[in-house]
Amino acid sequence: HAKQSGRAEARQYTAELNRHLQDHLNLSNLLRDAIENHELFLEYQPQVDLNTGKIIGAEALMRWSQGDGRLVSPAEFIPVAEATGLIKDLGELGLRLSCRELKRWIESGYDDLSMSVNISVPQLHATGFVETIEHLVNEFRIPPSLLKLEITESLLMEHSEAILNILKRLSDFGIQLSVDDFGTGYSSLAYLQDFPVNDLKIDITFIRNIGTEHGNAIPSAIIAMAHSLHLKVVAEGIEHNRQREFLRSRGCDYAQGFLYSRPVSGEEFLEKCSEVNRGITSVSLG
Ligand code: C2E
Ligand code: MG
Ligand code: MG
Ligand code: MG
Repeated sequence: HAKQSGRAEARQYTAELNRHLQDHLNLSNLLRDAIENHELFLEYQPQVDLNTGKIIGAEALMRWSQGDGRLVSPAEFIPVAEATGLIKDLGELGLRLSCRELKRWIESGYDDLSMSVNISVPQLHATGFVETIEHLVNEFRIPPSLLKLEITESLLMEHSEAILNILKRLSDFGIQLSVDDFGTGYSSLAYLQDFPVNDLKIDITFIRNIGTEHGNAIPSAIIAMAHSLHLKVVAEGIEHNRQREFLRSRGCDYAQGFLYSRPVSGEEFLEKCSEVNRGITSVSLG
């Protein structure tokens, strides 16, 4: 009896696994077409200086609008792209669109807004990554210091010479580097001394816990540690005033979250900049 139910379970497991693989395959085929059919685009989420309330730049976030208008989340399609090698093309597309948009902002008179772009680990490992960045910066004639690459802790944890080399080349070229989702990986803080990073982004999970018992300790510690290493700190996922006030009281530098703005189109982003940075509604952003 037990044997039989074990077999049934195994069959069910296999069926589930097949379905999962099939979904994955379908998605990767659709994604390949999506790149060709221009179904991928970027939205920009403002990043704000916590002291002045001014918009200092944005994070570019990729969006996939399928033929039928259905939006697929990057949390769903980025891992598929990473697993199938599509991430190289998709990543280059993201970088190209970001640089083009950054150029637009500069031409609109905003010459000091930064553009943060998410970079996947396999993307950085692919040959020619640094050359691609250099090429795009030169092609669009943008100051490299306005381009910021968001990398995850797991990349730094590899602690390899090759990665260190790539990051040093990018840093020497003038590109900024940011550690995304900071505190969620297997943090060894040792790498922060060795890698040329400019800032840390406190993960949204820690921001959510602000105000709960013990919830203030981790963001406070991250901010203090980052500052003593001369790194800037960005808090992501700020939704409430009390989170903003707490972070400001702890000296956190920059903020990003729905409290300020959801990710928006490039056009809307520029409209927000003209409202906020030219002082018309700066009160509402505080
Ligand atoms: P991430 O880099 O940590 O980006 C922040 C995510 O938090 C974004 O989700 C953003 O929309 C969301 N967010 C921002 N403020 C708030 C808030 O106040 N509350 C809540 N609940 N969420 C907030 P999104 O756009 O769905 O992106 C998810 C992840 O997908 C990103 O996490 C990033 O890891 C990845 N991703 C997005 N675009 C790209 C890309 O172009 N390339 C790569 N490699 N990864 C990307
Ligand atoms: Mg990010
Ligand atoms: Mg993040
Ligand atoms: Mg994330």
